[in-house]
Amino acid sequence: MGTYAVTGSASGMGAAVVERLVADGHRVIGVDIKAADVVADLSTPAGRRRAAGEVLAQAGGVLDGAVLAAGLGPAPGRDRARLITEVNVLGVVELLEAWRPALAAADRAKVVVFASNSTTTVPLVPRRAVRAMLDGDVEKAVGTLRLLGKAAPTFAYAASKIAVSHWVRRQAVTPAWAGAGIRLNALAPGAIMTPLLEQQLATPAEARRIRAFPVPVGGFGDAGQLAAWVVFMLSDAADFLCGSVVFVDGGSDAWFRATDWPRPVPARRVGSYVARMKAFRAQR
Ligand code: NAD
Repeated sequence: MGTYAVTGSASGMGAAVVERLVADGHRVIGVDIKAADVVADLSTPAGRRRAAGEVLAQAGGVLDGAVLAAGLGPAPGRDRARLITEVNVLGVVELLEAWRPALAAADRAKVVVFASNSTTTVPLVPRRAVRAMLDGDVEKAVGTLRLLGKAAPTFAYAASKIAVSHWVRRQAVTPAWAGAGIRLNALAPGAIMTPLLEQQLATPAEARRIRAFPVPVGGFGDAGQLAAWVVFMLSDAADFLCGSVVFVDGGSDAWFRATDWPRPVPARRVGSYVARMKAFRAQR
């Protein structure tokens, strides 16, 4: 049986993952701002350091897997864009960078990062904010998002999930991750009935927007079902899964973006495609 770190363990999908892993006989080290084995505020650098270090200490330096589910939704609020950047992006990247050696020390470790279908279904997300988030430049990300006024939290949320998805896809294939036997993937849920969604539904305008959003299968997703996908992505079945973003969203992404992906490599990208091929051969 393995040892797993789960952030956002106190609520919603993180809590549902913990429940399943424990039922399967695994040891779980939960991280959350409240009611967890490691209580830490992931919106501050000190909190993230504490979470990273405490988990490593409790795990004895070996982690069979990690699930990064802590996250803040796009609720209104002046400081929300900053909090979203810190928790949803740095709360993933900094923790995983600290945990990577412990994951490499295990046999075929697996990591699942929570993204969202906001990545592909929210129009006009500023690329500059995504880039700033990936650079860990909180001030620049917040400055860019501030220009969007009341819509800032919505764009901050989508940008944060694009940033972590890109980070996952870039890192997953490298010698440090794939080469070290770690499988790093992301899960992109649609609207799932959890306290995060309940908070959004509590605002009438936001509730109208959510209920009007196209979901081809109808209704909302279930936290337990999403947890089952996570547990599958932590299992041996995921040995050949690397850098994937798995959408479990009732069909919204397919509704809006059916032919955007998969698509052939465009002519203007062939040069970089050949260069990537050579780079791969050189690194072996
Ligand atoms: P949730 O609100 O039920 O759980 C999120 C957890 O993160 C909570 O336990 C909360 O305490 C923790 N958290 C928030 N800020 C923190 C901080 N500063 N430090 C430490 N912990 C903190 O939400 P959920 O719906 O279960 O969301 C899980 C993940 O799934 C999130 O990353 C969310 O963005 C993502 N997601 C959710 C939905 C949805 O519709 N529910 C859709 C797509 C993606």
